[in-house]
Amino acid sequence: MNELELIDKIKKLLPQNESVIAGIGEDCAVIDFKNSDYWLLFKTDAIVEGIHFTSGTEPEKVGHKAIVRCLSDIAAMGGKPTSALITIGLPKDFSPEYVEGIYNGMSKVANRYSVVIVGGETTTNPERILISVAMLGIVEKDKCVFRSGTKPGDAIFVTGELGGSIEGKHLEFEPRIKEAQWLVNNFKPSAMIDLSDGLASDLRHITIEQGLGAELLASAIPISDSAKRRSRSNSSSKPALTAALTDGEDFELLFTINPKVAVDLLDKWKKTFPDLKLSCIGKVMDVVGFKIRTKNGIFDVTEYGYIHFA
Ligand SMILES: [Mg+2]
Repeated sequence: MNELELIDKIKKLLPQNESVIAGIGEDCAVIDFKNSDYWLLFKTDAIVEGIHFTSGTEPEKVGHKAIVRCLSDIAAMGGKPTSALITIGLPKDFSPEYVEGIYNGMSKVANRYSVVIVGGETTTNPERILISVAMLGIVEKDKCVFRSGTKPGDAIFVTGELGGSIEGKHLEFEPRIKEAQWLVNNFKPSAMIDLSDGLASDLRHITIEQGLGAELLASAIPISDSAKRRSRSNSSSKPALTAALTDGEDFELLFTINPKVAVDLLDKWKKTFPDLKLSCIGKVMDVVGFKIRTKNGIFDVTEYGYIHFA
């Protein structure tokens, strides 16, 4: 059974009521807490030694990563993070200095985004460190962006550069909180998501799962230098474009928007965020599935890359 099938099974067992605006299947749960202007955002995420970081990783970076993964999801809803609880599972022979380093990393980034850490839980976990973060945020009701608002013909945009995050970005990225805030206040996307599993995979949630598709333009996809370097230095690694389509942990924003505002958006983005690329990479189609236009023709895109369209 894969992760999605498991989630589907569990979903049926969970209690729900009318306070749930959005639950499983969004970047964050959206809860009506009887406030006239805001909804509550609620998110949890865990990282595990040996999977999301190695034993040799600097502890400050581990702490940073644990927090920013949740912040990235709050950003994807158009929200502002407020407070967090931390659960840490430690092996019996843990190093107190290493754990202190983790909390230093967490505090530093939490401070930067005005997030308070208000408690949590410590427990033992055999062999590996495990950190679980539960994060609260708020979102103005009319600024909240879901995965489901995409329309055929919408332009598809992505921030930053994609692929090769494993070279270091996955431990050091900054969540796109202020960029998402600016977007929802100036050019509200029809749908938005943060890239955690890879472009070709996460794009499904805002298109295919809504009964839509997408046509991408290969030359418009922003490929990171690390993805290019990796594809050059190791002949067995993926081509750079495939890496940009399929590598996980980019933590950039992927969104769709009315194409009429695309030029104005690009112009104002450049003036507001001169150091962060914004790329229009394609458009939403009313046929389910992904295609990519390259100089060699049109290909089908899968979550593993692209295959020749026969
Ligand atoms: Mg997400």
